[in-house]
Amino acid sequence: MTRLHEIKRVKHDIVLRMLEVSQVQTVSPKMVRVTLIGDALAGFSSPSPDDHVKVFVPLPGHTYPTVPTMTADGPRFAEGVPPSPARDYTPRRYDAQARELVIDFVLHGDGPASTWASQARPGQTIAIGGPRGSRIVPNDFDTYVMIGDETALPAIGRWLEELPAGARAITLIEVADESEMQPLVSQAQVERHWFFRDGAAPGTTKQLEDAVRALEFPAGDTFVWIGAESRTVRGIRLYLQNEREHNPDWMKASGYWKLWPDDED
Ligand SMILES: Cc1cc2nc3c(=O)[nH]c(=O)nc-3n(C[C@H](O)[C@H](O)[C@H](O)COP(=O)(O)OP(=O)(O)OC[C@H]3O[C@@H](n4cnc5c(N)ncnc54)[C@H](O)[C@@H]3O)c2cc1C
Repeated sequence: MTRLHEIKRVKHDIVLRMLEVSQVQTVSPKMVRVTLIGDALAGFSSPSPDDHVKVFVPLPGHTYPTVPTMTADGPRFAEGVPPSPARDYTPRRYDAQARELVIDFVLHGDGPASTWASQARPGQTIAIGGPRGSRIVPNDFDTYVMIGDETALPAIGRWLEELPAGARAITLIEVADESEMQPLVSQAQVERHWFFRDGAAPGTTKQLEDAVRALEFPAGDTFVWIGAESRTVRGIRLYLQNEREHNPDWMKASGYWKLWPDDED
């Protein structure tokens, strides 16, 4: 049977939702899991494991986030009202029946979203917008190579949970140290490789790129997914494109955060 490897793109109406925190759990010393509930989740849909929503957190000293209204020209904040910071996060799990959305936050120590997550408590309110669109990678590749740092663990963890039995995946994941490892549950056959910074600052090592260079892809068609610090991602993407000549249609590379804020991608 011919396999098309057809990647489906789905657009969603952008909806902003005010949600209540119902649960806060510690996943690892630097990862907190926040469960959000609310009738506003009616109609929420996240068909792809690497979807993202904009999370709006309250400004310091505020109880509620200030969110824009959606207009034909895009989101617009009311004049004179300071807008809430908004950052991208992965819907780690969504239970439509219970109307529960789970988001995992890395506590990296700086920035409004991480700071908010470090004090998150049940009863608090945050807002989410999106997802705006989904890019659905089919299950017909022979192998899925998933590369990322801790910010990509929610997407990789969810993808592995959603892969069917019979699929094959290889994960290359960098975290601070062993205490940040998570059980990655899957019905698929998964080869897991963990890398530890052991004191190096996030975004400053080359070990993910070195590991990709050393990795022999199994025979057959391989989809490669990368999510990490922007320069790390760019290095790996350029290696795969230029040196390994990996089919660009069988790859998705996204900068998940920037160590150097002036970088363009
Ligand atoms: C599609 C997508 C999905 C994402 N999903 C998730 C997710 O599910 N969970 C998650 O935790 N993150 C996720 N991220 C990454 C997250 O959006 C960024 O880490 C974001 O910068 C955090 O916002 P902040 O307000 O905490 O820090 P910012 O205000 O954005 O940044 C403040 C400072 O912190 C630094 N910084 C930002 N992130 C990190 C980090 N991880 N480690 C070290 N330093 C950092 C910046 O360089 C900057 O100097 C995702 C990003 C994208 C693009």
